[in-house]
Order: sequence, then structure tokens, then C-alpha cells
Amino acid sequence: MYRYLIVLVTLCVSVNGWGQEVPKFDLSVRFADNFETAIPRPEQDKIAEEKLAALQKKKGKRPNIVWLVVDDMGFGDPGTYGGGALAGASTPNIDKLAAKGMKLTSTYSQQTCTPTRSAILTGRLPVRTGLIRPILAGDKITVNPWADEISLPKLLSEAGYFTLLTGKWHVGESIGMRPHDIGFDEYYGYYPAQKEISQRVDSRRFPGLVLNPKRMAAFEAVGPTDYLTHGFKGGKTEELKQIKSIEDMSKADQVLTNFTVQRIKELAAGEKPFFIEHCFMKVHSDNFAHPDYAGKSEAKYPYKDGVHEVDAHVGAILKTLDDAGVLDNTLVFFTSDNGPQMDGWPDAGYTPFRGAKGTTWEGGVRVPGIAYWEGMIAPGRTSDGLFDLMDLFGVGLNIAGVSTDKLPTDKYYDFIDQTSFLLVEDGRSKREAVYFWWGKELMACRMKEYKVHTKVIMPQAPHMHIDLSTVHDVGLAPWFFNLYLDPKEEMTVGHRLDPWMATVLGKLKEHGATFKNYPPKNIGL
Ligand code: CA
Repeated sequence: MYRYLIVLVTLCVSVNGWGQEVPKFDLSVRFADNFETAIPRPEQDKIAEEKLAALQKKKGKRPNIVWLVVDDMGFGDPGTYGGGALAGASTPNIDKLAAKGMKLTSTYSQQTCTPTRSAILTGRLPVRTGLIRPILAGDKITVNPWADEISLPKLLSEAGYFTLLTGKWHVGESIGMRPHDIGFDEYYGYYPAQKEISQRVDSRRFPGLVLNPKRMAAFEAVGPTDYLTHGFKGGKTEELKQIKSIEDMSKADQVLTNFTVQRIKELAAGEKPFFIEHCFMKVHSDNFAHPDYAGKSEAKYPYKDGVHEVDAHVGAILKTLDDAGVLDNTLVFFTSDNGPQMDGWPDAGYTPFRGAKGTTWEGGVRVPGIAYWEGMIAPGRTSDGLFDLMDLFGVGLNIAGVSTDKLPTDKYYDFIDQTSFLLVEDGRSKREAVYFWWGKELMACRMKEYKVHTKVIMPQAPHMHIDLSTVHDVGLAPWFFNLYLDPKEEMTVGHRLDPWMATVLGKLKEHGATFKNYPPKNIGL
């Protein structure tokens, strides 16, 4: 029996009624009840393991991890993804990162901020943790979702790492939900998205609030904080500086980059390896150009100046790592937390795909993803292998030497350890499928180059994917696309042109069935 299982695992075949082995379409295997299925790649895993062991021997210290997370940047914004100067904002530093590292063309986020930000820190889908949509002013959360979640920074901190989150949080600001409550050693940033802050000071766009003192007082009672906040594990929290003007808001990212740069200098000289999640405030609407960057993009619009500024900060952070001599012992990953928010156009990014932020079309969830590690990731690599941003959780655990045995068996984990995909020169993705949720609705599944939708989000006016859209069931047949033939998801191949619809639909249903034994958590959102 054991040998029989080994054959299934290593060759990815099944046995038909006549005892003959036949190749399987779905190459993934379920290694444990509570883990997402993964494609076994034992040879490349071994090479990655040896590379990491050799580096550890040379450095005598675990590798550092730096995530650069932009807010609402579109897939098509960076030059290396087809944007840059063509889309009105050149991005030389991001392009250089891709050229010297590995560019992923099928990286997936969740469709809004809070879900992505919580998923990458827990390795679990938002519907499992309860953090299914952005937390907004007036929301009454009934259960602290973090109370029984084990975050990546907590695990890394226990493994000897210093863990820091700089910038936007947006996953709860009450006690018990702040970054420094859920595992980070230090937090320095602004809790909410830019617009949640700037609506208090922008009288041109929000006169009904800013020019009405009574309403402003009512909003202050329920609104998120507009202070730069500095917090430490254990609870010590200081409110440093309030955003009092549009100009203050415009300078927020410079403040954050200055802090990360300073901390990298200090941490690189110290004993501990570090994990820094640097979360930009830009380019979430409303964007206001920093005086040093105003008009510096080709387009000269605030959003585009914001892209150009973010790119400059990426360059500054990379230069600091280089100057500190730690680039060869640091994994850098650059991404965006969701697609462009087209509702705010022209204060919005660009995606070549259908849909935008707030939808489970490719435009909402396919984001830039660049992995860079000097000497460990071969320069100039590009891959269309599937990568869910939750996989960063698995990569983080692996390179920090944290065993998945530390994770509870009564929780389902959606991440896949993709370390060998990134580190091995011809490494391939171990992910067979990505699942797309919208709140509590299971909407779609991408498997290989195919994507099946059982529900779709339809804007009722151009660009209005959040504020004027509806969720629809599909008709008799699911909507089935071949993304290689039709990246824009406009021409269904249906059952007419392709035999795999039922198989991909089966994968989606198999995913749905995992909730029977591991029910979703409801936190009142
Ligand atoms: Ca976002």
C-alpha cells in the first residue's frame, strides 16, 4: 500500500480499471488533510535545500526577508510589466529589480487590501480567518480574528528574527489587532489607507465633512487614526505626528522610507536576521504628489507621480541593503496588494486585464511579483508559474528554518512552500491552482492556464467595479477561459473548445469541500 502511494506521489499518475497507470491532468497531491495540494518536485526541493544550507554555512546567520508591498498598484504600472513611461510613469528601479531577479507573471493577490494583507501573514484565505473585506469606519468586529491565528512574524520572531512592519496596516487598529500585538516586534506607520486619512483634510474633495465641524466630530469618534504610530511588542504605543494637511499626506511615504532605511542600517549591523514588511501608502487613492516628485512622472498626474515616487523608494531601500552588505543574504519580494482601483480614475493604475480591484477577474487579483536575491535567484528569470501571495508565508518559514509542524492541525493552510520554485534556476511552480473568493462567495478557480468562474462581478457603469457592481451567478455552464489564448477573459472556450472544464470545476469544488472539516470564521464583517 505504501509503495502504491509513493508511485502516485512521484509520478503523478492514477491507475485505471485495468490496472494501467495513466497520467493525471491534476499533478498536485494532498500531503496532509489541512494543507493545500501541491505538485511534488522533490529534486528541485533538494537543490534549494542544499543552496540554503551552503549560504547558512557561509553567513552563519539565517537570511533576511524584505517584502515591498505597494497599495493598489496595477499589474500594468511597472515598466517591466508593459507600463512605465508608456503608461506615464517610468519605473527604472522596479524594472532593474526584475532584470536582476525573477519576474513572475502569474502572481495572485486577494481582490482588496485587508484580505491580502492578512492572508500573506497567516498563509490562510480571508474566508478562513474572517478578514474578508477592508475594515472601515463604523465596523463592529465581534471577534478578534487574530486571537487564534499564528502569524508569520510571530513564528519568525520565535525563530530569532527581528520583525518590523513599516507603513500601512489596515488589518485592525484596536488593541489585540495591531501589528505589534499579532507578532511584529515593531510597527511604524499609519493604520488605514490614504483616503481614510486625507478625507479629514481635503476640503476640495470632502467639503461635506471637512467644512462641517459637527459631522467631523462624529467621524472622529468612529474614524481610523490619522497619526503616525510607533508600536512595540508588549503594547507600548506612541502617536507621533498627525496628518494635518494634504501636504503632510503627500510626504507620508518619504517618512516611511526614511524609517525603513534607518532600521536596515541598524539591523544589518546586528546579530539577528530581520523580516521587514514595508507597506507603501501610495498609490491608493487619494494620491497627492510629494513636492519633490510633483510633475516628475511623464504624465504629471498625481497617481503617476506616486508610481514614480514609489519606484524611487524601492531604489533607496535596495541601495541601503547593498550599502549594508546584506543583499546576498536577503530575499526581497516586490508586489501590490490588489489590482488598480478603477473607481477612482484617473487616480488609478493600469491593468491589461478585465476588471479591477474589488473583482475576481484577472484585473482585480493578478499583480506584479518580483523576487530578488543576489547570488541565490538567477538574474533575468521570468516564469508564468502560478504564485499566490500566500505562498510568501511558506517561503518565509522555509528560509527561516521554521517547521510546518509548528502550525496547528485544526486549521487549514492555503499557502504552498515555493522556495524551490524561486531559488532553483529552472525551478517550476508547485502550485496547481489558485482560488478566488469575494467575501464569503467562492467565485472562480485558475488551474494551469485555465480559469473557471461560477459567479462573476459585473460593473454597472464603466470602471465602477466597487461602487456600482453586482454579483451574478453564471447560467447553465460555468464561464471557462483559456488565459493563454485570452488573457482578458472575454472569449469563453466553454465545453465546445476544451475538454478540461469539468476537471477545473472539480478542483474548485474540491477546494470548497475543505470547509466541511475546517469551517470559516465569522468576525462580524
Ligand atoms: Ca489595496
